[in-house]
Amino acid sequence: MGRALIIGAGGVASVVVHKCCQNSDVFEEICIASRTKSKCDALKDKLDGGKTKITTARVDADSVDELVKLINDYKPDIVINVALPYQDLTIMDACLETKTNYLDTANYEPLDTAKFEYKWQWAYRERFEKAGITAILGSGFDPGVTGVFSAYAMKHHFDEINYIDILDCNGGDHGYPFATNFNPEINIREVSAKGSYWENGRWIETEPMEIKREYDFEGVGKKDMYLLHHEELESLGINIKGIKRIRFFMTFGQSYLTHLKCLENVGMTSIEPIEFEGKKIVPLQFLKAVLPDPVSLGPRTVGKTNIGCIFQGKKDGKDKTYYPYNVCDHQECYKEVGSQAISYTTGVPAMIGAMMVMTGKWNKPGVYNVEELDPDPFMEALNKWGLPWKESFNPVLVD
Ligand code: NDP
Repeated sequence: MGRALIIGAGGVASVVVHKCCQNSDVFEEICIASRTKSKCDALKDKLDGGKTKITTARVDADSVDELVKLINDYKPDIVINVALPYQDLTIMDACLETKTNYLDTANYEPLDTAKFEYKWQWAYRERFEKAGITAILGSGFDPGVTGVFSAYAMKHHFDEINYIDILDCNGGDHGYPFATNFNPEINIREVSAKGSYWENGRWIETEPMEIKREYDFEGVGKKDMYLLHHEELESLGINIKGIKRIRFFMTFGQSYLTHLKCLENVGMTSIEPIEFEGKKIVPLQFLKAVLPDPVSLGPRTVGKTNIGCIFQGKKDGKDKTYYPYNVCDHQECYKEVGSQAISYTTGVPAMIGAMMVMTGKWNKPGVYNVEELDPDPFMEALNKWGLPWKESFNPVLVD
């Protein structure tokens, strides 16, 4: 059917590449392009020989010129951005200039302010519409599948949704005292920020990890989870009819939190540059360099993830509750694609989102969050491509 340009060659990109190769009817050709070309070549070497034709390239995705040149040379139907959130805008600029579809899994965040918001990317709406190309924002698991679950709940189960609690549980154990499951810099920026939730049309801010609940997750068991700010709260607050409150909870083990607190207390999570032996360094970037690479966690992580959304609302005048969720096993993922479940649960929806655009199901000109598009073909594809979902109409609620 067509060709995709995949930017980035880290944990998530590796899963996207594996999944595109499994889906060679849609992805006849892919190009893996990243800052370090040897990582792209290593991925190609793993997967070459199948039906999908793989090429690689070096690109600095902070440079619009380099991106435009690469896109003009390769002429992809879509660019799948699985580099870092800092590159979202340059890649969108290059897609505009070359009239190429765009997809990512995380919203833009300026390097010098740990604050992610959709406003920068939503500002491209009119220009993408005029250019006749599609941008899909946040097509990972959360954001991503959580938005698709919301659109599906709205379409099939509710007249209005009043409350959403997104529950992200990672019951995996990698055996290290402290490591992050995806890019450490992005992960630590996210979890050390203040928490917040959306209630009655406004944000309520909390201290980091101030709100804690316990939940019994299928496939994992009882876990402590903490309220965090998360990017899909912003778009779902606008796109879901009748919403009164949306919260996001993520599970963390005590060892992770104790280490994080200690690192914070000594200044290692700061993004303010400091002078060290005549050179400016950012403590968090230095910390990233000494922590285990998330890609290396694959073989050693055991246990399961369970991510889903509890919806409460009304159908035909009656109260209704609905909880779609996915349970994913770290070792099963590793056996299939050589990655742990966090990369897997992000990479599979990225491939599916790109397939939605390439097969014409989601290729509306403009810039969209996933919940704005038809959830049905995506929900079907989740079952087919490795993230089957379950549903409950009587879940335990979070107080
Ligand atoms: P990694 O750090 O493993 O990979 C990032 C890749 O991007 C690396 O290959 C890196 O290159 C490359 N890169 C960084 N800067 C540039 C640049 N300027 N030009 C070209 N390539 C660059 O991250 P992950 O794979 O763990 O995460 C990828 C994305 O997925 C992130 O945006 C993350 O926020 C998002 N994510 C989304 C989730 C969701 O559910 N929605 C969940 C988890 C992650 P190099 O190897 O040279 O450093």
